[in-house]
Amino acid sequence: MAEKDVATMKIAPKVWKNGELIDWNDARIHVMSHVVNYGSSVFEGIRCYNTSRGSAVFRLKEHIRRLMNSAKIYRMEPKFSVEEVCEATVNLIRESGLDSCYIRPVIFRGLDEENPSFGVFGMLNPIHTYIAMWQWGKYLGEEALENGIDVCVSSWNRITSNSMPAMAKAGANYMNSQLIKMEAKLGGFAEGIALDDRGYVSEGSGENIFIVNGGKLYTPPLGASILPGITRDSVVQIAREMGIEVIETTIQRSALYLADELFFTGTAAEISPIRSVDRISIGSGKRGELTKAIQDEFFAIIDARRPAPNNADWLTFVHDTGEKKTAVA
Ligand code: PMP
Repeated sequence: MAEKDVATMKIAPKVWKNGELIDWNDARIHVMSHVVNYGSSVFEGIRCYNTSRGSAVFRLKEHIRRLMNSAKIYRMEPKFSVEEVCEATVNLIRESGLDSCYIRPVIFRGLDEENPSFGVFGMLNPIHTYIAMWQWGKYLGEEALENGIDVCVSSWNRITSNSMPAMAKAGANYMNSQLIKMEAKLGGFAEGIALDDRGYVSEGSGENIFIVNGGKLYTPPLGASILPGITRDSVVQIAREMGIEVIETTIQRSALYLADELFFTGTAAEISPIRSVDRISIGSGKRGELTKAIQDEFFAIIDARRPAPNNADWLTFVHDTGEKKTAVA
């Protein structure tokens, strides 16, 4: 990474590697590592917010559980538990001095340089666990959350779960995502929506999708080759708490064009309204009322201004609370 990028992006100076802190510049691997040649990584994307009550990680445990589930599908056995990776994440944020950041834990098959193994099999290669973090702004642009984005339906289908399990957040899945994203961006769109192998709506290259119709929410089921998104789950819970019916069902491409409102969800994209699909305007062509109402609740939760649905523990605070600090002082 160029120094310029490091300076402008505010990257945490340390990286957590297999239980130890190393310098950012030392977080390097051999080009013949299994992951480089065969795509054998699983990872997470998590956000730490600078909330009204201090820095807090959003749904940390759920993300690290999904990381471990992704590893399990690929027969990778990391040496660390969910609890240990959660603790390491929080400690690294403290160490980084960042008050908000994007967190990237990654588990991959490396290379044992003393006893190298170069084949596809992979189970003879060592498993490494790393965590890096940096400050990352709005993924789809500052304006996206309010004005919405223009998207297209991709000519690429989403991976089918029996060849690449969409349930695992594996690095290799993102080759499919890259095809979707590159095609969209080169065509002048912010993002692409992939259909599954049956032609039903699946998801964006890095987001789940919701349709609003007649005051109800619709979203593709896990069977449509989607990642079980944690923001998706948060939106489902928030909407149900608001008394909005949420229906997981197969969705046809044309239903996208006829939706009252449409939005993406994801850790990076948060809740991003979609204002057009294939240049067809959605609803009023602006962020819809229900999308805004759900956004408002979501942003209040991630800013610690209101509790999560059912008082669930969605925020892991990075520093001691004010009360504790006063007591110590
Ligand atoms: N689908 C894909 C393909 C993704 O990469 C992401 C981002 N992790 C999502 C959906 C949204 O998942 P989450 O809300 O857990 O970030």
